[in-house]
Amino acid sequence: MKVVVLGAGIIGVSTAWYLLEQGHEVTVVDRQEDAALETSFANGAQISVSFCEPWANAGAPFKVAKWLLKDDSPLLFRPRLDPAQWRWGLSFLGQCTTAAFERNVEELVQLGRYSHASLKELVAQTGIEYERLERGILHFFSSQADFEAGAIAAEIMQRHGVDRRILNREEVLAVEPALRSFQHGVFGGTFTPSDESGDARIFTQKLAKLCAERGATFLWEHDVLALEQAGGSIVGAQVASRLSGQKRSLKADAYVAAMASYTPALLKPLGEHLNIYPAKGYSATLKLKRPDDASVVSLLDDGRKIAISRLGDTIRIAGTAELAGFDLSLDSATSRSRCASLVKRYEELFPGVADTSEPNFWTGLRPSTPTNIPYIGRSKKAKNLWLNAGHGTLGWTHGAGSGHALAELMAGRAPDMAFGFYGDALPEKRIRSMATA
Ligand SMILES: Cc1cc2nc3c(=O)[nH]c(=O)nc-3n(C[C@H](O)[C@H](O)[C@H](O)COP(=O)(O)OP(=O)(O)OC[C@H]3O[C@@H](n4cnc5c(N)ncnc54)[C@H](O)[C@@H]3O)c2cc1C
Repeated sequence: MKVVVLGAGIIGVSTAWYLLEQGHEVTVVDRQEDAALETSFANGAQISVSFCEPWANAGAPFKVAKWLLKDDSPLLFRPRLDPAQWRWGLSFLGQCTTAAFERNVEELVQLGRYSHASLKELVAQTGIEYERLERGILHFFSSQADFEAGAIAAEIMQRHGVDRRILNREEVLAVEPALRSFQHGVFGGTFTPSDESGDARIFTQKLAKLCAERGATFLWEHDVLALEQAGGSIVGAQVASRLSGQKRSLKADAYVAAMASYTPALLKPLGEHLNIYPAKGYSATLKLKRPDDASVVSLLDDGRKIAISRLGDTIRIAGTAELAGFDLSLDSATSRSRCASLVKRYEELFPGVADTSEPNFWTGLRPSTPTNIPYIGRSKKAKNLWLNAGHGTLGWTHGAGSGHALAELMAGRAPDMAFGFYGDALPEKRIRSMATA
């Protein structure tokens, strides 16, 4: 079958890979000149199967209200005259109950496990190298109260079958000795040894090359303009070259929409309404001056809600979220202060370890759903249109598995996990959804 995949981030490229595995003829379209040049470019680098709690939980409304409009808050909500933003916000509030949280966590754990297994298999098969470190993720706390809350969260995750260990200060320092310079600020931590880290951009770009070697066609620098529908099916994807301006309609048997935060706008004219809203995040990548003194275990700094991951001879510091539309700028006063605070915090934790004189700053838009659960499955409006979008804070973690699962669904097979796939993905309803598992 001929398949057109729209979007070449981690999600689109991994979908293309698994479709090629099944012998399909694949064309991938992206407006950029290579894969992973948007949200998958410089993220926190964590494969965090065991740290997958969604933002929506029973305590979130109180925290978000406290942070509302505070420029330096970890989650900043800037109200706009934008119905999509309000719809998302109201739906997010609806997920802020203990029951919804537990349900969402369980699905995210399921997808995370499936994805981790898919990633390991894919890496073993292809030998892709991407600064991978299988050293776990260590979440450390800078106050006793936060540590106690973190220990409760660890117990909740343990109930979902996740190996998240509670560590005292000495145990934290034993897991990551580089934190010694900040030891008096560490009150304890939680540790998930099976998690890992690696560079999503390098992985995705190398996987795209392997896809091309296996016969996939990549149409770079092409905007996806619209989907053409007739009789309940998609009959073409209208694209335009950014170089020549030339428009054409790509014909295929099936289409996959994997355009992250831009997917809802593409599907809206079909009458399909996806609740994905962009949550802007920041990262700083610094060259290491003293690599031997830098961390190798991927870190979560609870005090600032940031991730710190070692990528070869650099360190990546990433975090914060702004719900403020599609703005990607780095030069506003808020952006400048957010970027500066990432570097400042790294220097507090690891003084003199990195070169802070030339930080590489970046912003990306997490394609966020109120549950943090992505749309993976079949469109409700066109039977040959498939969705793989809305991976929020965990698209790198869930990348390989989301591609694998969608290719399985397209082949009429049920992926082996209890996950609520979107739409009528399998006519026989063989999916063990959370309601029936
Ligand atoms: C600061 C930050 C830190 C993060 N940290 C982590 C982490 O540690 N671990 C983790 O698992 N996840 C993390 N994430 C989330 C993760 O990066 C995303 O979920 C993931 O990259 C989404 O992948 P994607 O393929 O859906 O999107 P993208 O990579 O954005 O791919 C979508 C593609 O669609 C293309 N496109 C869009 N519209 C059009 C159009 N009209 N025409 C043509 N092409 C189009 C874009 O060019 C893009 O290449 C983080 C995100 C941010 C912002």
